[in-house]
Amino acid sequence: MRPFKYVRATDAGAAARAVAANPRAKFLAGGTNILDLMKEDVERPTELVDVTRLGLAEIKAAGGGVSIGALAKNSDTANHPLIRKNYPLLTQAIVAGASAQLRNMATNGGNLLQRTRCQYFYDTAMPCNKREPGTGCGALEGLNRIHAIFGYSDKCVATYPGDMANALYALDAVVRVRGASGRERTIPISEFHRLPGDTPERDTNLQHGELITAIELPKSDFANNSYYLKVRDRASYAFALVSVAAALQLESGNVRQARVVLGSVAHKPWRSVEAERALAGKAASEENFRQAAEAALKGAKPLAHNAYKVELAKRAVVRALMRAGRLA
Ligand SMILES: Cc1cc2nc3c(=O)[nH]c(=O)nc-3n(C[C@H](O)[C@H](O)[C@H](O)COP(=O)(O)OP(=O)(O)OC[C@H]3O[C@@H](n4cnc5c(N)ncnc54)[C@H](O)[C@@H]3O)c2cc1C
Ligand code: SF4
Repeated sequence: MRPFKYVRATDAGAAARAVAANPRAKFLAGGTNILDLMKEDVERPTELVDVTRLGLAEIKAAGGGVSIGALAKNSDTANHPLIRKNYPLLTQAIVAGASAQLRNMATNGGNLLQRTRCQYFYDTAMPCNKREPGTGCGALEGLNRIHAIFGYSDKCVATYPGDMANALYALDAVVRVRGASGRERTIPISEFHRLPGDTPERDTNLQHGELITAIELPKSDFANNSYYLKVRDRASYAFALVSVAAALQLESGNVRQARVVLGSVAHKPWRSVEAERALAGKAASEENFRQAAEAALKGAKPLAHNAYKVELAKRAVVRALMRAGRLA
C-alpha cells in the first residue's frame, strides 16, 4: 500500500473542501471498497478524508417519503422500520449484498460508489481504460462472462455490480450532494451512474469533492408488491450475474404501473421501460410477465462469453414479477 495522508473531517463543508482542494484526495466511509482498491494498487489516493463522524447517518420520514443518511450503515438501513414497512424492495436488495459483517461497515453513499468487479480492472498487469484511460479494454476480447449486455462501448464493457442502487432506481430515489462551496443539489438516481462511452474512468455524474449527504425516497405505491431477485454463482457472498428489482402497483389484479430494473447487465442499473410498457394495464399473469421479459431483453447485445445472461435475465424477470405479484 502506498503512503497517504489521513484527515478526519469535522463537518460536511470541511470534508467537501478538503477533497475538492486535492485532485487525488478521496472520501473514506466504511472503507470496504476503497481500502481494497488501494491494497490492490488500483486506486492511489494521496489523501483520505474520513467522513464517518459527520452525523449523516439519520434515517427519517421526510416529505411523505424518507430521507436516508449517506453515512447510515447498510445494515441499519435495511433493518429500519420505515424502510422495512414502506420500501421492502430496498431491504431485500441490501440484504442480498455482501455479508452481514460487510453490511455493518458499508455505508449507503459508499455503496452507490462501489467500483466494478471486472477482473481486468483489478489486475494492474492488464490493460483497462477505466483504471488507466487509453490503455485499452482487456475484457472486450478477453473473458467477459460477467460483463455487460446493454449500453457498453468499445472502451469498456464493465457492469455496475451493486444491489442497492437497482432498488433505489425502481423506487425513484434522488441523491442529495453537497459541493465545496456549500451548494447542495440533487441527482435523480437514474442520472447518477453513467454509461461508459468514451470516458469509462467516470462511473457517476458526481463532481470531484461533492459529498453525498443523503438518499431521498418519495412516497411509494409499491410497498405491497415488490421483489428483489439476485442470481449469482454462489448462494451468498457473491456479486450478481443478473439481478432484477421488480415492483408492481396492482388494481383488481391488473398492473396500474410497474418498475423493472435489471442489475449487473450494464454500467449502470438498467431500467426497462419496454417491460414496464408491456405490463401497464395488463393482468398480472405469468403469460404477461413472459412478454414483458421478452421486451426487456430484446435489445440485449451479448459479448463472446455472456450470451447466457440473456435467457437468465428473462427468467429472472418473470420470477421476480411472479414474486412481486404474489403469484409464486
Ligand atoms: C467481499 C465483498 C462482497 C461484496 N458483495 C456485494 C454485493 O453482493 N452487493 C453489493 O451491492 N455490494 C457488495 N459489496 C460492496 C460493498 O457493498 C461496498 O464495498 C460498500 O457498500 C461500500 O461502502 P463503504 O462505506 O465501505 O465505502 P468506501 O469503501 O469507504 O468508499 C467507496 C467509495 O465511495 C466514496 N464515498 C464514500 N462515501 C461517500 C460520500 N458520502 N460521498 C461521496 N463519496 C463517498 C469513497 O471515496 C470511495 O471512492 C461487497 C464488498 C466486498 C468487499
Ligand atoms: S471492461 Fe472496463 S473495467 Fe473491465 S477491462 Fe475493460 S475498461 Fe477496464
